[in-house]
Amino acid sequence: MKTLNRYISDTVRTLKPSGIRKFFDLVAKMDGVISLGVGEPDFVTPWNVREASILSLEQGYTAYTANAGIVELRTEISRYLQKRFHLQYDFESEILVTVGASQALDIAFRAILNQGDEVLIIEPCFVSYGSLVTLAGGKPISVSTSGDEEFKINPYSLKKYITSKTKAMILCTPSNPTGTVLSKRDLEEIAKIAKEHDLIVIVDEIYAELTYDEPFTSFPSLPDMKERTILISGFSKAFAMTGWRLGYIAAECDLLQAMLKVHQYSVMCAPTMAQYAAVEALTNGMEEVEFMRKSYKRRRNYFVKSLNEIGLHCHMPGGAFYAFPSIQNTGMSSEEFAERLLVEQKVAVVPGNAFGESGEGYIRCSYASSMEQLQEAIKRINHFVQSLS
Ligand code: PMP
Repeated sequence: MKTLNRYISDTVRTLKPSGIRKFFDLVAKMDGVISLGVGEPDFVTPWNVREASILSLEQGYTAYTANAGIVELRTEISRYLQKRFHLQYDFESEILVTVGASQALDIAFRAILNQGDEVLIIEPCFVSYGSLVTLAGGKPISVSTSGDEEFKINPYSLKKYITSKTKAMILCTPSNPTGTVLSKRDLEEIAKIAKEHDLIVIVDEIYAELTYDEPFTSFPSLPDMKERTILISGFSKAFAMTGWRLGYIAAECDLLQAMLKVHQYSVMCAPTMAQYAAVEALTNGMEEVEFMRKSYKRRRNYFVKSLNEIGLHCHMPGGAFYAFPSIQNTGMSSEEFAERLLVEQKVAVVPGNAFGESGEGYIRCSYASSMEQLQEAIKRINHFVQSLS
């Protein structure tokens, strides 16, 4: 049969399928697998949040909302950002409710990039950044980080990647996949570079509520940074709301209005019932967030300690719900390790190179699973590692 490939755009043809999905198609065909693969909370969305959404349906709120989102939600987001992170964003002109942080990232790149503009991407990183930059006509420039430095950006090497075409950089803190949290000092170094080279900083703070050791600093709270930052966040992780598809952007008015233009033509508005749920999450949901955070912290402490005990060196991740241990002492590649672990012990993890080349030699394990599952996973990983020696 004749292939239809000729109809597919050159850009889309160059995109690689996500390394995570490829792996999970394999998992879906197997029984008895413990999955530490997918990056989502194992909690169900708190009941009061679900109930608020049901109520909105009962009241008949089933129509489109304002493009930027309902006023109640934008007001609550603005209040929340002020209260939690000392940020000042005007709900009328500087907040945009999106279809997950995923869509927020998409419209951020599409609103600012011209053909060929370069975007610095700190790797290893969330799988969508590079492809979204490409789809927006930009050029992703991978900036690698090293496990020896807990995957923190080295400001001196960052500068080496800046050219006359560099327009923006994207940071993620706490990071998916490494769990690394950038300190205020780290962020100040980056802010200095952004200012010096007039860069926009897109900062993905979707895991900001999930930090365990140090107080979190939000990038746009640094002096002069609000004006050059596009802050991306959402409800998926902190409130266990991945399926609701709700996120948001906060940015200065000019940038926000440009993104709103793209948003209105692409999705019109975020789902109405999810927006009502999110109002409840922000007004009455913080206790649940704290409960879940403490629970992740307990699991992190157990899981990371156990990985180190069985010989897979792992730095203590300060946030998110991922451990990113090195598997270099096994002599295997990340993909080989992940594939054999899946086939031989039925534990699914993600090969680190799915997040960029500097993730090679590591695997990502999500510890957003029950303690029993984590204990069983550790037992199986231990068997696997022992079987190699
Ligand atoms: N950014 C990061 C760093 C993520 O890990 C994820 C989800 N895995 C997203 C964005 C997308 O989140 P959402 O569900 O809000 O689209």
